[in-house]
Amino acid sequence: MTELLTAAKVDVENARSQAEGWTAQQVIEWTANSFGSQVALSTSFQADGMVILDMAQRMGVDLRVATIDTGRMPPETYNLIDEIRERYDIPIETYLPDHNEVSDFLTQFGANAFYNSVSLRLLCCQIRKTHPMEKLLEGLDAWIAGVRRSHSATRRDVGKIEIDDAHGGIVKVNPLADWTDEEVWAYIKANDVPYNKLYDMGYTSIGCAPCTRPISSGEDARAGRWWWEDESVPKECGIHMSQGWAEEVKATS
Ligand code: SF4
Repeated sequence: MTELLTAAKVDVENARSQAEGWTAQQVIEWTANSFGSQVALSTSFQADGMVILDMAQRMGVDLRVATIDTGRMPPETYNLIDEIRERYDIPIETYLPDHNEVSDFLTQFGANAFYNSVSLRLLCCQIRKTHPMEKLLEGLDAWIAGVRRSHSATRRDVGKIEIDDAHGGIVKVNPLADWTDEEVWAYIKANDVPYNKLYDMGYTSIGCAPCTRPISSGEDARAGRWWWEDESVPKECGIHMSQGWAEEVKATS
């Protein structure tokens, strides 16, 4: 944790309540001004992340962009990343799962073991997502995410600016927390923002290929994630949850 965070924390306390009345651009501006190179947008390039990325570019904010390549992403996501590089001409900091952890999992359980139990699914998410996320956040004072309240019940209370206790108490910023799906897509269309072509095939939330499917009419936006699991299991990988969350879910599933 740097001195910058200590100084900014005073500001964070004030900003947290004020930010609820700010626009997404104002939230991004405050974050960039407060943390400079010590903040990054962490994104899997879903529609929400693309809006934030595009907004920052249009505002002239030199925002670091980071992602996790789980190794199981759909080809459409890799195509989108190429499109982003071409459009915005920015580096995309890419974090990978630990080779040994993946190797041990594959050796012991097999490539598609996440279908067999909630515990193995969460273990796979830990290895391929939450552990690389810890590496991504190392040394940062803040991160920006595309989390919105309308995504799911588990996200309905997120603030625009939060303290991320699960990641060492750094600041987590959700500029689109109060945006609707309609607002996200209106922005994308109005600004010709590149987007994942899986959205045109009925997907509303996009993660790893084997764990994501399109949804049916009337289903929750994240219903296509880990669709084979019981509805009582939160549709989360753990990145946006509290510390120890995965262990609690494993214990009760
Ligand atoms: S979404 Fe599926 S493949 Fe990706 S890390 Fe989680 S369980 Fe593994």
